[in-house]
Parts: sequence; C-alpha cells; structure tokens
Amino acid sequence: MVSTRSLEHGVDSAIARQLEAGFPWLRFHKELEPAYREEHFERSRLFIRLSLLLGLLLSATFFWLGRSATSPGAAPLADVIRFGLLTPAFLITILMSFLPTRRTLFRRFLLLTALSVALAHIALSLMMPLDQHHLAFVSLPVVIVFVFFALGLFMQTALFVCVLALLSYVGGALLTGMPTGQLGYNAAVLMATIVICAMGSYVLEHAMRERYLESHLLAEMVERDGLTGLYNRRAFDRYLESAWAMAKRQRCTLCVMLADIDFFKAYNDHHGHQAGDECLRKVASAVSRAARRPLDFAGRFGGEEFILLLYDVDQDASTMLAERVRNTVAGLRLPHRSSSVAQVVTVSIGVAVVSPTETPRSLQGVIQLADQALYQAKREGRNRIVVEEAADALIQTGVFKTS
Ligand code: GH3
Ligand code: MG
Ligand code: MG
Repeated sequence: MVSTRSLEHGVDSAIARQLEAGFPWLRFHKELEPAYREEHFERSRLFIRLSLLLGLLLSATFFWLGRSATSPGAAPLADVIRFGLLTPAFLITILMSFLPTRRTLFRRFLLLTALSVALAHIALSLMMPLDQHHLAFVSLPVVIVFVFFALGLFMQTALFVCVLALLSYVGGALLTGMPTGQLGYNAAVLMATIVICAMGSYVLEHAMRERYLESHLLAEMVERDGLTGLYNRRAFDRYLESAWAMAKRQRCTLCVMLADIDFFKAYNDHHGHQAGDECLRKVASAVSRAARRPLDFAGRFGGEEFILLLYDVDQDASTMLAERVRNTVAGLRLPHRSSSVAQVVTVSIGVAVVSPTETPRSLQGVIQLADQALYQAKREGRNRIVVEEAADALIQTGVFKTS
C-alpha cells in the first residue's frame, strides 16, 4: 500500500509508473490492463450499441443493393450469410450490451460480429459476377473503417480482424479467378485503408489510454502528500473509516501509531528548512516500511508527524513493531545537533490498540488515544514508545495537540 520512491509526479503507484514507462504497444502492465479494458467497454457501451444498430442497417442496405447484381445462383447463399450469420451476430451482440453481468461474453460477441461483418461483405462481393464486382467492392473500405472505429475494439484487435479479412479476400479472389491486375489494385486499396485506419486508431487509443492514466493519477495525487509521497490526512480519514468497518465485521483489532520527530523545530533552526524537508522524506520512508501488508496504511498526519494503521495486530505485536520503527529511524543516523535526547534524529511514538467490536469508542477516539500515548512518550523524555490499550485508557481529550 505504501512506498515513497520519488517519481516525477511525487506518487509511486502502478499508474504513475505506467505513465513514466509509456505504452508504445498500447498495453498496460497486467496490474492495470484488465481494469482499463473494463472501464473502456463500460464507457463505450452506449456508443457501441448505437454503432451496432447502424451496422445492422448499413449491412442490410448493402446486401439489398447488391442483391440485384448478385448472380441468381449465388442469391440464396447471400441470404444464408445475411440471415444466418450477420443479422443474428448483430442482434445477439446488441442484446448482450444490455446485460451488465455478461461483460466478457459481450466482448467476445463484439469480436465475432466484427469478423462476421468483414467476412460476410467479402463473401458478398466475391459472389458477384466479375464485371459487377466493383459495385460491392466499394463497401469493403467502409467495413474496414467500421471495424476500426465503430465497435469500440482495441486497435490491435481491429487490425487482426482486418488483416484476416484482407487475406480472405485475396484467397477468395484467387479462387474465383479474378484477373491479377484487378486483384492487385483492390488488395492495395484495402491495404491502404487498413494502414490509414490503424494509424488513426493507434493515435486515438494512445490518447484515450493516456487520459485514463492521467485522470487516475490526479485522483491519487489528491490523496498524497507532495513532500514525502505518503498518503495524506484526508486519505487516512477515508481509509480508517473502511478499515474500522471491516475490523468490526471480522472482529479484528486495529493499531494506530503516531510517530513524531523529536525536537524538529530545533532541527530546522539548526540545519535549515531544506535539510528539514530531506529529513522528513527519509523518516517518512523509514516509518512507512512498517506498513508491509496489503491492509496496512502509512501516511503523513501533518508537519513532522506520521501515522500508521496496522490491521489485525495485538498489543505485543504492536509494541514490537513500534520499537522497530523507532529503531529504524534512529538507525538512519541523521545527525541532530540540537536534540537533547540523542545525537541523531529520533521519534517518539504513541500507540493505540483497539478492537472496534468491543470498544464503545469512535474512530476519532482511537486517534485521540494514540495522541495521548504520544504526549506521554514526549513527557517521559522522548525517543520512546508508549502503548495504550482501549480497555485501560482514560481519554483526556485535547491534551496533546498535533502540529
Ligand atoms: P517535540 O519533540 O515536542 O515534538 O518538538 P518539535 O520541535 O518537534 O515540535 P514542534 O511542534 O514545536 O515543531 C514542529 C516543527 O516542524 C515546526 C515546523 O517548522 C516543522 N515542520 C512542519 N512541517 C514541516 C515541513 O514540511 N518541512 C520542514 N522543514 N519543517 C516542518
Ligand atoms: Mg516533534
Ligand atoms: Mg508534532
């Protein structure tokens, strides 16, 4: 959940890393790709549905117009392709688009429809007598544009469908004995259409993917502290609420730790504000290393104070972890010449362990408890930890004010 590796955007997340690494092959890391695909199809659902309706109408028109030119022997076959393959493919996919629980099936049918549209129109054009072929051929570039831009397909999928269609066209044309000159010209027209559509589709998909990453990164940045890259207070408040509800349901304990740098004002005064910032970054990184499990949380609570929320740990484990955090910070060996407690930067830590199922306390009460423990740690000399358990603690609200 947490890390402080500094990236260009001050946020270390899968989204930020993907933005930095780029995606020339129009594919995100496997952590992100499924969610992107999901969101893409959800967003495009209405557009795809309308395109399918339009495709149904256009196909019917092309088939109807082509009927008069189709040789009489081939007409029944054209009807089979239209009513047995194309129309059902369109109708079933439109139907699927109304079933939000059948997402994967919807996407498969979409691909199937794209293949049907391309192959059906190629078959129709090849069924015409050679001297009439050009009449139906003109519909093929339209079909290619339709596959690339109307069905919400990803560029690579659309390219696959269209290349397959081109190969089928060339194969079919050779079988029907199309003169080489005509075949070469037609294949070149189809190829050029595919290349132009692929280029346009690439640019479009790249921009859409970029917009997706940027909007998600923005949402993440709102929850991050710019200096340390840790989550901020606002993110903590939100997270605590859901962790509290979950711990209540699962009858688990929650541990809240507040770690405050000792004599930090003096550190700033002595070493300068910039060195103070650097010190905050290093301490943030050390503190956040304690939040290793997926449900743990580390954030900057404000000023030189950090907060850790550890899920399902008892008092003994909390004590051990708090000691480890304190030792890790001291182990950084950041010189602190104006500290009267050590030669290096140290932290005092207040720990509160509560079981949301058993305690009558509110969320805020837990933070107050940790705050109170921190105050006591300061009063007892700093560079130490104090653990409060909900059961044996009396809250004296507002005793310790966070900076
Ligand atoms: P104590 O041991 O009791 O915690 O003393 P303290 O000096 O650490 O606490 P105090 O609340 O008096 O001072 C906190 C200092 O932290 C004051 C403020 O200038 C500094 N500080 C807060 N935020 C930042 C920051 O983002 N960068 C820097 N460099 N300093 C900060
Ligand atoms: Mg302090
Ligand atoms: Mg403070």
